[in-house]
Amino acid sequence: MLFSEDAVRSAIKNKELQAFYQPQYDAVTAKIKSAEALVRWIQKDGTVIPPSAFIPQAEETDFIREIDWYIAEEVCQMLRKQKADKQIPVSVNFSRRHINEIRFAEKLSELVDSYDLPHSLIEVEITESAMVNEPEKILDWINTVRDAGFSVAIDDFGSGLSSLQFVKDMPADVLKIDKSLLSHNCENEKERVVLESIFYFAHRLHMTTIAEGVETKEQLAFLRTCDCGKIQGYIFARPMPEADYLRLCRHHMRADEPADILEIQTPASASALLMRVVFKRYPLVIFSNLNRNSFYMMAYQDFSATGCPSTGVFDELITHGASSMHPEDQEIFAATFDRHNLLKAYADGKSEVRLVTRQLGDDGCYRRVETTDYFVKSASSEDILVITLCENLPEE
Ligand code: C2E
Ligand code: MG
Ligand code: MG
Repeated sequence: MLFSEDAVRSAIKNKELQAFYQPQYDAVTAKIKSAEALVRWIQKDGTVIPPSAFIPQAEETDFIREIDWYIAEEVCQMLRKQKADKQIPVSVNFSRRHINEIRFAEKLSELVDSYDLPHSLIEVEITESAMVNEPEKILDWINTVRDAGFSVAIDDFGSGLSSLQFVKDMPADVLKIDKSLLSHNCENEKERVVLESIFYFAHRLHMTTIAEGVETKEQLAFLRTCDCGKIQGYIFARPMPEADYLRLCRHHMRADEPADILEIQTPASASALLMRVVFKRYPLVIFSNLNRNSFYMMAYQDFSATGCPSTGVFDELITHGASSMHPEDQEIFAATFDRHNLLKAYADGKSEVRLVTRQLGDDGCYRRVETTDYFVKSASSEDILVITLCENLPEE
């Protein structure tokens, strides 16, 4: 059954529209990190009308804006019921029709300020399909919303004619991966490749990721291998009335885990942990491909290489590295880590190349640094890869 605008208007007047809340969980720790507000129409007899029965019609006119503002206000009221140190962010769906709304960001600021809430508690969700038309306009709109201190999520990514092209240009904070990409328990190889690529793309653009509609532990296990940030789905919790949500936040911030999954078993979290340990000893780690003359650098704090791009041409990396050495060390550094010299060392059967030099730190002081290149033969090609570990040595 579809409902007329008048019917929904009187539902608003009678306070029959409510925000339900669906928690969003940290993919690794299964703790509640945030929630999404989803409108429900609770009729007098208790019948719950889902958004699909009235949102699409409301979206045909600007009436949808009134519904969205009503829900945004409900969210502010709910947040005021939480203790200030226990408030967690809530995302609110805003129809694409708000893109033409004059002073949208100011209006949202005024609303949130009137409840004396930090802007960081509200996330604005806008669907991916809204990006396709008038991308310039939406880019400006996202910028003003973010400038006002709200984070922005792109909703339903992958549900329609997704374009990485549009998303790459959008300054959004969060990418919500649509449930339609998660069918078949993620056992299909091609589907896995698509999902892995989307997560890789989002993370390289420094976007947080949320998978929507996660229902099975197989999906959860796979999403964890993709380093997915947050999980929103029936596996952990369904959308629930405000009172239930507030209770859940007070007493049960952590979801019950499907018993057979341990945090450390996921490759992404295991390698993140391993990197933390590696960084403790080696503040600079670089992956290079000698044959392709390329590198990928994982720079760490206070190291001269932080002025260098994080990916690029290996030969230029060595030139850059040498320029930050003590003048007496530059020649030996450039000669030792010359790409052809390294390839020759590998061909001669060496497993590593090591050198100690004096290197300029970000603080302007020289320090003794041991650089070690470990050779690794690529598993998938004839290329010779190098992992470079740099360690600060104590003063002599
Ligand atoms: P959405 O914003 O993508 O919200 C996620 C939808 O996925 C919600 O449906 C949620 O209940 C559902 N979902 C979450 N986990 C699972 C799962 O594990 N399995 C399945 N099958 N579904 C799951 P819901 O609440 O029916 O909302 C549908 C859509 O209606 C929303 O999709 C959003 O586009 C729209 N909507 C809801 N509330 C509002 C609102 O206040 N304003 C606007 N403009 N649109 C809204
Ligand atoms: Mg949404
Ligand atoms: Mg969605």
